[in-house]
Amino acid sequence: MSGRQDADGPSEEAETGGETSGPVDGVHAGAVTAQDRAGAATEDGPPGAWTRHERGQGDGMPVTTPDPGPDPEPGPEPDQGPAPGPDSAPGPAERRFRRQAAVVLGVLAAVILAVAAFSTPWHALTAGPPDPARDFTAAEIARAQAFDAATSLPSYLGLALTLAFAALLVATPFGARVLGRLRGPWWVRVIVGVLVLTAIVEAVRWPLGVWFETVLRDYGLSTQDWAGWTADRLKSLGVEAFLLCLMLLVLVALARRMRRWWIPAAAGACALTLAMSFVYPVVFEPLFNDFTSMPQGSLRDNLLDMAERDGVPVRDVLVADASRRTTALNAYVSGFGATRRIVVYDTLLKAPQPQVELVVAHELGHAKADDVLYGTLVGALGAALGAVLLYLVFGSVRRRAGVASIADPRAVGVVMGLMTLGSLIMGPAQNVISRHIEARADVHALDLTRDPATFIAMQKRLAVTNISDLSPDAVEYVLYASHPSSPERIALARSWAELNGVPVS
Ligand SMILES: [Zn+2]
Repeated sequence: MSGRQDADGPSEEAETGGETSGPVDGVHAGAVTAQDRAGAATEDGPPGAWTRHERGQGDGMPVTTPDPGPDPEPGPEPDQGPAPGPDSAPGPAERRFRRQAAVVLGVLAAVILAVAAFSTPWHALTAGPPDPARDFTAAEIARAQAFDAATSLPSYLGLALTLAFAALLVATPFGARVLGRLRGPWWVRVIVGVLVLTAIVEAVRWPLGVWFETVLRDYGLSTQDWAGWTADRLKSLGVEAFLLCLMLLVLVALARRMRRWWIPAAAGACALTLAMSFVYPVVFEPLFNDFTSMPQGSLRDNLLDMAERDGVPVRDVLVADASRRTTALNAYVSGFGATRRIVVYDTLLKAPQPQVELVVAHELGHAKADDVLYGTLVGALGAALGAVLLYLVFGSVRRRAGVASIADPRAVGVVMGLMTLGSLIMGPAQNVISRHIEARADVHALDLTRDPATFIAMQKRLAVTNISDLSPDAVEYVLYASHPSSPERIALARSWAELNGVPVS
């Protein structure tokens, strides 16, 4: 669930998926922002050769501690240091903690499913079958197919490397071995560990990023030079590493103080997700783009009038200087409460005014339904669930990963790997929900403007300009499609027109 709703789902690969740098697509309320990047390394450790690192570590953390025995009673937890070592069977106290965590996990999962089930508009409007050939020329379809073919390989390779590296961190002692070489206080080792692993991943993914960017340039979608591209990529890497450091410092600190660290960790993950989604537009988005108020004029007046007519309080529409990065068209809503904003790309302003109004009408649909807020809530609950799941899963991977406890700074690798796997697994479910939310925003735009002909013209402009995939295959749809495809959105508009008796071509 994203902390931001993209308007119009231009080619997702060009915009948010694959290898593009630049603003990551909002806050992934789920776990970390760009966990998807926790890419890969080809460096392969000797299998199963886990060596303990018991030499004098600054914080004197033994890898194996005696089983602390049964907890006298539930309640305040004794500060007993790290959990038992990887070789020891769980003691009675740990078994009880695990049962408690499993119950909380079940409750959280049920609440998330209930909220997602009730807040997702499953039946916004039933559309007819999509038919690209009806609205797009053979040349446009061929160009979209060629672009899709050219970007698929770097995208899938990036995904495979991400998976492989996460598996390496979770199922082998690679991470523990690399991080075992670090020295200093535990918190220094956590920070340096995150930076080292992030750097390894990025080093492997960098050539794929260059490849992807080269394709974007070949197709005229990118307007950046390599200096700008590199700066963007380093900035998003910095944001990602900063958030990871923050999370892992808190996590390891909690695990060093208490054995039931998953309780405060779940609360903290929840709070961090809410806070991040709230501050993202004002703290992180300006790192990547300059935002200006839409200049005075008829477009601005019409947009604010439309918002008022819609009953959505909008003080301003912001324009992002996206043209310094891309030719793609987009708009989005981000933040909630005091930080909520509607942003249109400056590239969009060249479109005829009624089409811009249609895009903003779609964004008003997101604002009116509080999609960002609900997405953030589900994401925050998901983050809490992730923390509990980490506690439960860690017990079964710690032996392979060669780390006894989350309290050990060398656990940073396996935690990063698990977070990556978690967000990859959740992606398709988020896409299913997102596509329904996008369809609702489209219906809202049609209800508000009652102009399906312009809606269709706008969709065609978006698809052609952004070289969207007009008929994504099943795998692409599951993995990447946060929006219905352009032909699906056009089919929806035709169904709306028929239902409402409004003529359309
Ligand atoms: Zn949208």
